[in-house]
Amino acid sequence: MEIRINHLTKTFPGNPKKNIPDTTAVGDLNVLVEDGTLLGLLGPSGCGKSTTLYMIAGLKQPTEGEIWFGDEDVTHLAPEKRGIGLVFQNYALYPHMTVYDNVKFPLTNLNVTTTKKAHRIIDDYEILKLIDEHLDEIIEIEKTSIFKGKVSKEASARKMVFAYHVVTSLANRIFSFGFHALEGEELKAKVEEVKAALSAEIEAEKAKVEKAGYSLNDSYEYVKDGAVVKETRRLTKDEIDALIQETARLVQIDQYLERKPSELSGGQQQRVAIARALVKKPRVLLLDEPLSNLDARLRIQTREEIRRIQRETGITTVFVTHDQEEAMSISDKIVVMKLGIKMQEDAPQEVYRNPNSLFVAKFLGNPPINVFKGHCKGGALYIGEEKILSNPALAEDRDVYVGIRPEGFLCDEHTPEKDKVLTLNVEAIQTMGRDMSLICNHPCFEGEVIKAIIDSELKVNIGPMKFGIRPSKIFVFDGKSEERIYLEEGKKGK
Ligand code: ATP
Repeated sequence: MEIRINHLTKTFPGNPKKNIPDTTAVGDLNVLVEDGTLLGLLGPSGCGKSTTLYMIAGLKQPTEGEIWFGDEDVTHLAPEKRGIGLVFQNYALYPHMTVYDNVKFPLTNLNVTTTKKAHRIIDDYEILKLIDEHLDEIIEIEKTSIFKGKVSKEASARKMVFAYHVVTSLANRIFSFGFHALEGEELKAKVEEVKAALSAEIEAEKAKVEKAGYSLNDSYEYVKDGAVVKETRRLTKDEIDALIQETARLVQIDQYLERKPSELSGGQQQRVAIARALVKKPRVLLLDEPLSNLDARLRIQTREEIRRIQRETGITTVFVTHDQEEAMSISDKIVVMKLGIKMQEDAPQEVYRNPNSLFVAKFLGNPPINVFKGHCKGGALYIGEEKILSNPALAEDRDVYVGIRPEGFLCDEHTPEKDKVLTLNVEAIQTMGRDMSLICNHPCFEGEVIKAIIDSELKVNIGPMKFGIRPSKIFVFDGKSEERIYLEEGKKGK
């Protein structure tokens, strides 16, 4: 489901009496989230990410603009009618309920419109098929569930649910036939008896349907006057069970269904929250900083999980975060926001490689980009007295900011001396395995310390040292507007 956001604006009214001005949390935002992709909404605190997400969810009404899901205008649709799954930072599971019941919660009282099906017949056929194809394994499962001389019905049913992806009530019905207690001729006779009973039941059900004036098609849907019959109804217990089992398998919490949330780790709890959002099979999944309550290791693990789940379901997803690394690693596309305005929208690597403003350049990258005060005149760029590069785009005499990515510094023997254009004062050297981080200083530097990442094999000394700069890792921004000055034609960022 594609999401299209057109000229979306949200202004919160201020209070003139208290001298509080209006706040435009989101201003004229245009974004396209392509079907089946994951969009990362990224920006510092207060930039309007959550307000945007809540407008997509229908929890906040826009002041202006439109939101479309596919070809449906949902701008004024109530949240429950939008077909969304929402996961908050504070995932708020019900502590007194089991994981199963937490995931089940959105399905209670849910009305669905479906084709009317002969469920009993479908179930009976499924059981017949399982008996024909898997009788030996079913008996084995049941036998291995015998505990202290008693058969644990629940354990049997659960194993069968996992093995054959059937609903619990089907597993229980198979169990009730008692195949596990029989062998040889007795077993054979029992199997024949069960099959005959099921076949008789199917015939009786079919007759009932026909008597009521319907026929059944190949999918066992009710048909009247040539048209498939639809019904609006509550989900059946089995349908609810099937949805819970399917979602639990997808997010890999199937082994925890009987536990309470307090018996799970933070990452597992968050997966339960995701299952709860997905169980209704929403058209769109909306995640508001879903990882911020987790520790560093779990954050990485859970974000990979979210990516896997998103890919497997193909559900169009919007993911809000202020963590650039998280957004970069998980998103097909990111939108970087500042004070309610979209600064840039593109694939994460493209935004990193080709930032359109100083703000975006500084926001992406770890370690962050190194920013120097510079100047250009006569088609050349200077940092302090040193001429860094020549380019016709730098003809105008003006102050600029120069951004150099940490991996952009060159000090190897293959870089000719004439290309070593910037002198940095190396203050410390930190070896980090394959790479080495140089902590440097320069009078025109804008931040605290310059970080240069270079190959740990290279020879470096403390003190002044000349560096070359990789052309693709240097960016020039106007000193006032902070917008990018493009040194190559046709390289503008979106
Ligand atoms: P964070 O990462 O801190 O959650 P955010 O990017 O999600 O921030 P929003 O919560 O969307 O930002 O808020 C955007 C702006 O709108 C902020 O300046 C905030 O103070 C303001 N704002 C949000 N809700 C209201 C409100 N109900 N009334 C007035 N101003 C609001």
